[in-house]
Amino acid sequence: MELVSERRALVVGNWKMNLDFVEAVHLTQQIGVLLRHNPVAHVDVALAPPFVDLRSVSSVVDSERIPVSLCAQHVNANEAGPHTGEISLSMLTRVGVTTFIVGHSERRTHYAMDDDTVARTLTHVVRAGQRGLLCVGEDLVVREASEYESFVATQLESALRPLSVAQRELVTVAYEPIWAIGTGRSATSEEVNLATAHLRRVLASLEMPTTRVLYGGSVNADNASELIHQGIDGFLVGGASLKAESFLAIIHAVDGCYAELR
Ligand code: PEP
Repeated sequence: MELVSERRALVVGNWKMNLDFVEAVHLTQQIGVLLRHNPVAHVDVALAPPFVDLRSVSSVVDSERIPVSLCAQHVNANEAGPHTGEISLSMLTRVGVTTFIVGHSERRTHYAMDDDTVARTLTHVVRAGQRGLLCVGEDLVVREASEYESFVATQLESALRPLSVAQRELVTVAYEPIWAIGTGRSATSEEVNLATAHLRRVLASLEMPTTRVLYGGSVNADNASELIHQGIDGFLVGGASLKAESFLAIIHAVDGCYAELR
């Protein structure tokens, strides 16, 4: 078992294309109540609702003083102009977003977000002084060909090399193997441990030895306690973040682990 790091943990709930604004407000309020009754000491919590829910969620977070920050699931690499259907960084910061997911595998796979666009988007985010949550991870073909190490190293390097060392401090990395996302088949503890160690080696070579590394892929209330001991700094959670109870169980598993080992 590896010791957890000196950094605070981070748990992000990615609601993907689920919950209209009424449902989103309801879930945010439930999360607020549960966090009030059972506060956490070592974990930062962020919510990534659909764009159209952000303003409502932001109002509830502010008015009820819920200790969570807001995250955008995606942002365009340009600031304005002819990009029908896209949303700009300043529009999102205006409604309270402080962290931007960049390069989620669903954007890469289904919406043609290539490494170059990921790099341009991440650069755009950190140049504006905002935080980026860079997602990397391989599909099953790459994993079974035992090529995942070079694959994720390329993803990391192409996104991070264009940034200055100071800008890199605004980045958190999420290792999200595609074969584990939304499949119910999480990576095993050993797989998470090995992959995290590899990511940390690549990050150290990029002068990012203290960057937070999250794991994402079918994390739930049952496997969170074991996975958090595998050298990671928290989770990016999809399905299990759509219910307040399971999301809070994950947050508390992380907080409990950090409390125990400090
Ligand atoms: C995700 O969307 O980033 C994710 C990890 O989803 P899930 O937890 O549902 O696998």
